[in-house]
Amino acid sequence: MNKRGRLIVLSGPSGAGKSTVVFKAVEGRDDVCFSTSVTTRKPRPSEVDGREYFFVEPDRFKEMVANGELLEHAEYVANSYGTPRAYVESKLNEGLNVLLDIEVQGARQVNQSMPEAVKIFIIPPSMEELKRRLQGRGTDTERAIEARLIRAKQEYAEADFYDYILVNDDADRAAAELSAIITAENCRAFLRENLLKQEQD
Ligand code: ADP
Ligand code: 5GP
Repeated sequence: MNKRGRLIVLSGPSGAGKSTVVFKAVEGRDDVCFSTSVTTRKPRPSEVDGREYFFVEPDRFKEMVANGELLEHAEYVANSYGTPRAYVESKLNEGLNVLLDIEVQGARQVNQSMPEAVKIFIIPPSMEELKRRLQGRGTDTERAIEARLIRAKQEYAEADFYDYILVNDDADRAAAELSAIITAENCRAFLRENLLKQEQD
């Protein structure tokens, strides 16, 4: 119904369950799409180029930054990550809501360039549970897990500009809350004032 979609920025510590919750929240919704990021991180065994990420060499990443091809970009635990700008713009213009799963520095850049973006921070019930989930996922070494836990605490300290905080204790409940936020944010009056104006003519 809306001419332009909402940009939904989702952040939270690695292992909080962002992918799990997002997957459940958008099941059956045709008004939401994901932006696939670019990263210099090496693919995990289950990851496919172009699906989880576009995996690129550091030189190509630098070139994309220099050409202004990225809406935002940041370093995270020794790798670079960024959001391709063209995809996001074209989907928003088609009226679709676009979901970004990005860390806090990148989210802050988006907040500055597109302050109307909806910012959601997702957290696990505790740091102990976060560690258990990272270990259970089995994709990171113990050293990488420790680095991600340190980064998680830094992110909590920097997360003062988000509009919503979701606690992922029960993934179904967190997904229902995320879906409700997306629905409500599409009913905001500033997006629909034109509907009132049409009736006054
Ligand atoms: P992120 O995308 O934030 O890095 P993932 O979605 O990969 O996190 O989840 C990290 C791990 O935690 C996965 O193994 C996932 O199955 C598990 N997980 C996610 N949500 C929950 C939850 N509510 N309760 C228990 N385990 C969960
Ligand atoms: P992972 O290596 O676990 O896939 O992701 C590590 C972190 O990078 C996560 O917090 C994730 O949200 C973030 N991330 C993924 N893509 C992007 C991106 O395009 N930009 C930014 N700034 N962060 C990203």
